[in-house]
Amino acid sequence: MNTEQIINNNIVNLGYVIAAIFFIIGLKRLSSPGTAKNGNRLASVGMLIAVLATVLGNNIFGWEWIISSILIASIIGVFSARKIQMTAMPQLVAIFNGLGGSASGLIAAGELYNLIEANSEIAKDTTITIMISTIIGSLTLTGSLIAFGKLQEIMPTRPLLLPARNILNIMLILALIFSAIWLVIEPSYTPFIIAAIIALILGILIVIPIGGADMPVVIALLNSYSGIAGAATGFVLENNILIISGSLVGASGLILTRIMTKAMNRSLLNVMLGGFGVEDGASAGSGEEETRPVKSIQPDDAATILGYSESVIIVPGYGLAVAQAQHQVRELADILKNRGISVKYAIHPVAGRMPGHMNVLLAEANVPYDELKDLDEINSEFQRTDVAIVIGANDVTNPTARTDTSSPIYGMPILNVDQAQSVIMMKRSMSSGFAGVQNELFFLDKTMMLFGDAKDSVENIVKEVKDL
Ligand code: NDP
Repeated sequence: MNTEQIINNNIVNLGYVIAAIFFIIGLKRLSSPGTAKNGNRLASVGMLIAVLATVLGNNIFGWEWIISSILIASIIGVFSARKIQMTAMPQLVAIFNGLGGSASGLIAAGELYNLIEANSEIAKDTTITIMISTIIGSLTLTGSLIAFGKLQEIMPTRPLLLPARNILNIMLILALIFSAIWLVIEPSYTPFIIAAIIALILGILIVIPIGGADMPVVIALLNSYSGIAGAATGFVLENNILIISGSLVGASGLILTRIMTKAMNRSLLNVMLGGFGVEDGASAGSGEEETRPVKSIQPDDAATILGYSESVIIVPGYGLAVAQAQHQVRELADILKNRGISVKYAIHPVAGRMPGHMNVLLAEANVPYDELKDLDEINSEFQRTDVAIVIGANDVTNPTARTDTSSPIYGMPILNVDQAQSVIMMKRSMSSGFAGVQNELFFLDKTMMLFGDAKDSVENIVKEVKDL
């Protein structure tokens, strides 16, 4: 290496170190809603520095490919960020995870092609990293597509259990290990293609038996996989920033997976084995139509109950995000507080469709952070609370999660809404939540159903409370 190349390398590595610092500070700032936007910007600047350092620091041929790729990707990125509904964000994350994984796998495949065509001696560590990148990348691609299908509800969200799936999975894993060893010993296209195809099939088979309610964990795990695939590709290309950024994504995805499994009181193994509470060859849920009577009220009744109470806990869920009722909810909380009523928000860690969904939504309406109480903080308060008002939440309030061992959500810690003196449940119909199980809360004596779109209902309650 001549002096000029050494200086060039050092400048590139300096760029990578600066980019890595931006990534780490950005990630740190993402951990709180107040600093998250800034964290996102810092991480983006880090990525720009990383791309510039890579592109300018290497002898790049084919600028037209790079510039046109950046342009197309930027258009897709801006378009999807602007167009996508907040409630569809997990689907977008699932697709991005899949694309990340497949990019890593394709780069590894390209590198293998270059090495084989050049007839050069291929080092064992190179084939090992190529194999890791391809297997994890392929698995992430198809697993993410299935997760997308479940989240978008274009395929059943319930666990789909194929007969003899465990034996099939074990046979595929053995074949995968065999082809991986074959590639390392004798690098050629055949074992590579076999391994890639098996990994693609395994991605489908691993995610299909996992129920919709466990999708938060799956998304976090696939996110981590896409990072690990990226880091492995970094080793293939000997690119430091890819190793660093892949490791950061891999580690943060794993931490998030841990947080989500803890929130749902499940072990990762239990989630990955899937099909909890379902017999082989069947799907969860009885599918029977609900005929039990419920108590139904109108917004003026709800306004009277709320307006003359002393303490209220607001329980937001996915329906709040669908209705985009966050501003109206904040207004309701404000007028109740003006009447001297204590108002708090109970935030379940998997409420909504993505980690932190409710925090982001309520932050948008400037709800003070100190009023947002997480599960552990708020659960003991329900029994001392006059009214729990459930706005578009369902699964996270279902008391059967405590008692019904056959339920797909059994064991998930829930908000103790059923312990409040009275419960107002706002939703549009009697339909079940994401997990597809009926909520026993609807049928309690203390529960009053207020049917309708959450935004309209809250708006009407606000009007009525003002007139009290
Ligand atoms: P659920 O999905 O259990 O229930 C949402 C409820 O909102 C539905 O019952 C629906 O009833 C109601 N709803 C929908 N639209 C409206 C509207 N416009 N106005 C009023 N109500 C409406 O939500 P939860 O937040 O309680 O639970 C989240 C679920 O999603 C859990 O099972 C969790 O595991 C899963 N999940 C969570 C993720 C995360 O990271 N947070 C990611 C993926 C899945 P109706 O149709 O009758 O109105």
